[in-house]
Amino acid sequence: MGGSNLLRFLVVVALGLFGFFLYTLDLFTSTPITAQAYLHLSPTEQIAISDKSAWNPDRRISIEVQSQSKIKSYKIKATTGDGLVVLEQEEVVTNRPEKLKIWLPKPEIELPDGTNLHYEIAITDWSNANFFSGATLLKQLDFIINAKQPTITILAHSPKISYGGSALVVFKIDSVDIKDIQITNGKNTFIPFPFVREGYYAVILAWPLGNTNFSGRIQVSDTALNTRRITIPFIKDTSPRYQASTLKLQEHFLSEKMNSLISEVKAIRYEPELENLTDDFEKFVYINEQVRQGDESIITQKAIEAAQQDAKSTSFPLEWNPFIPLKGYSVVGRFGDKRTYINAANKTSQSLHLGLDIASVKNDNVLSANAGRVILEQKLGVYGNTIMVNHGFGVSSLYAHLSDFLVGNDQELVAGDVLGLTGESGWAFGDHLHFGMLVQGLNVRNVEWLDSRWIKHNITDVLSQAKALIQKD
Ligand SMILES: [Zn+2]
Repeated sequence: MGGSNLLRFLVVVALGLFGFFLYTLDLFTSTPITAQAYLHLSPTEQIAISDKSAWNPDRRISIEVQSQSKIKSYKIKATTGDGLVVLEQEEVVTNRPEKLKIWLPKPEIELPDGTNLHYEIAITDWSNANFFSGATLLKQLDFIINAKQPTITILAHSPKISYGGSALVVFKIDSVDIKDIQITNGKNTFIPFPFVREGYYAVILAWPLGNTNFSGRIQVSDTALNTRRITIPFIKDTSPRYQASTLKLQEHFLSEKMNSLISEVKAIRYEPELENLTDDFEKFVYINEQVRQGDESIITQKAIEAAQQDAKSTSFPLEWNPFIPLKGYSVVGRFGDKRTYINAANKTSQSLHLGLDIASVKNDNVLSANAGRVILEQKLGVYGNTIMVNHGFGVSSLYAHLSDFLVGNDQELVAGDVLGLTGESGWAFGDHLHFGMLVQGLNVRNVEWLDSRWIKHNITDVLSQAKALIQKD
């Protein structure tokens, strides 16, 4: 190696070291470019998307790009699963922004549903990386084209829904890929039940007391968030009237009944607040309000759990007997009564009666008029000994104040089985049955479910009419 060669070698090494030194300086390192894609649902609503998503190209997608080194240019290329390039675009950004919103262009040709589409978005900034040509981020997005809106067709429905009552609707959904079905009465949501064949659903809705503005709607979204919403054409019947009554509570009666009731409540649940109350009426208020609420949330939860379980299967009853729980009876308390209790000092406590009170002979047989499964067999505070039977399709019946249980949890019942004996356990006066009907955990008017004509016109005829249409379809 000659002298000049050695010198040349040293210069190259020195330049290399200098280059490495420069490379490690802050000047040459840049914070990475970031890019997040958003699907725009409306002018004000957008959701972050990533990875493989279904996409209706009519919905706009933006990519929010950020680089502290400022953005220089970007390239967009879209290729179908078959390798066809359907879009290629290159843009130079003029004003060196740190943030840039890029609207993802649609493919230039219309692609059939189900097409796989791969986007590559290469964003380059003004940093000195890559020998001063800038750092480049390659953002990749994969889509499956789905431009078809779901459709909802109502096959059959109950003619009307009454305030406090129930109504049925059977419908069909046409959709590439259902993501979500929402059924609402304007306030509560209902689980749909698969009916007869794939894509068909049936659901009983309730119009609970307190919901003054019933609005039955079905909304379907697919995975591309194509959404369809329809109103269920029930006629709304606001004619049912509910009573309000005032009951005076006598001191001696309170102290007698309260002591036994409190010991019952304590035996089943620990209620520390009850310990601190000394006044009998205060104790009553606590039981009438807090303990009642506790009972009702147990009841609601059991009914909803059963409905969720049933919605996984396609079998449910097409025939229903009227829900008559006692062989002969007289009504002693109506559904929907608003009861105000008042003591000598004019203190009050209110409750809403969510069932029908009926009485017959003492310790009478309580019947399950329809087949079902026992979902609750429990001593509750206000309801006393209580049994709930799930009949499928979101419908449960409830029997309270029993003196004895004759069936147990999870037991399968056939129509006509005796499930217990009437009594006066819990907050009850005299032997009677508190009988409740629930639709997906919501208490509904018993009179409908006790009436064979109502059941025929609103439930069984609607189901068989829908079934016939589905079999022809
Ligand atoms: Zn009752």
